[in-house]
Amino acid sequence: MSGSNSVLVIGGGAAGCAAAAELSRRGTAVTIIEAADRLGGLAALHCCKSTSRCERCDACLPRDFEREVRGASAARVLTSSNVIDAMTDDDGVLVRMATPDGEVEERFGVVIVSIGAPPFDPSLDPRLGYGTVKGVLSSLDVDRAVRAGTFSVPDEAAVAVVQCVGSRDARHGAPYCSKACCKYALKLARHLQTSRPRMAVTFFHMDWRPLDGDLSALSRWEADGATVIRSRPAEVFQKDGRPAVRYADPADGPKEEAFDLVMLTVGMMPPESGPSLAAMLRVQLDDLGFFIPAQGRVLAAGCCTGPKDIDESVKEGIATAGRAVAILEGR
Ligand code: SF4
Ligand code: SF4
Repeated sequence: MSGSNSVLVIGGGAAGCAAAAELSRRGTAVTIIEAADRLGGLAALHCCKSTSRCERCDACLPRDFEREVRGASAARVLTSSNVIDAMTDDDGVLVRMATPDGEVEERFGVVIVSIGAPPFDPSLDPRLGYGTVKGVLSSLDVDRAVRAGTFSVPDEAAVAVVQCVGSRDARHGAPYCSKACCKYALKLARHLQTSRPRMAVTFFHMDWRPLDGDLSALSRWEADGATVIRSRPAEVFQKDGRPAVRYADPADGPKEEAFDLVMLTVGMMPPESGPSLAAMLRVQLDDLGFFIPAQGRVLAAGCCTGPKDIDESVKEGIATAGRAVAILEGR
């Protein structure tokens, strides 16, 4: 699966699996290399957010693409493996890889970087009480607990959802909007309410920016009983054994309110290994530390080029596979 007419996909998340699946559909030899011991990336750890119907959260997409890649004769999967060196020339990229069977050096015509973007660590913003105030969880903690079947709150729990954690905040995270988390948090909260109809949700947000274009989803949810407050909380603290949120109410001024659970919706950060991988591949990162989508024979797709949701990652992976084929064909 190597040689000047083949493609190496670095990173086996949603975008990488989609790119590899598209390449194999086109009959292009592809190797996908993934540091973890499984494909699917962070997206594959998300729970299904169905309510009484499929809510099109796309959490099942990475698994679908993984199955396709693993069954494709033109695709090879290397898990628990890493790129340790690379040399780029006019004909392609010579890549040294560490695999469970030892080091190998192989040539590829095009490399697609799809290493994803890590979630913001909410403990870096101590005002929000993550790790110090009981009952404060990140959105990923909640998501994974639901998927594992370990999520537990009383049926009548009062839950606060705090948006834009680590996003649109240069002091504590990143200055940009992480794009996926408005839609994601609403779908996750509505999924929680499906099996707990008496659960009360208060949604603290700065803006409503759903990537799927469903601009009325928030007002429909509010009409269904959710409390929607346009405010960025100043602090989450312990009050009588419960997590409490201090915020400025747009109409009433400073307020504080206790909940049973506070969920911090975390954004996406530039990939930690971006600088070292970019240096190996002799490409530049953008000013924020994300990969640039196309630099010669090194292409990039998915959240490592900037925050996006699973659907957009998959679409970018497929489009980038097409671009890789065009480069291999000299177009
Ligand atoms: S994971 Fe998401 S897209 Fe897949 S069935 Fe569940 S709700 Fe639908
Ligand atoms: S998508 Fe929504 S929650 Fe996420 S950073 Fe943008 S405005 Fe904030």
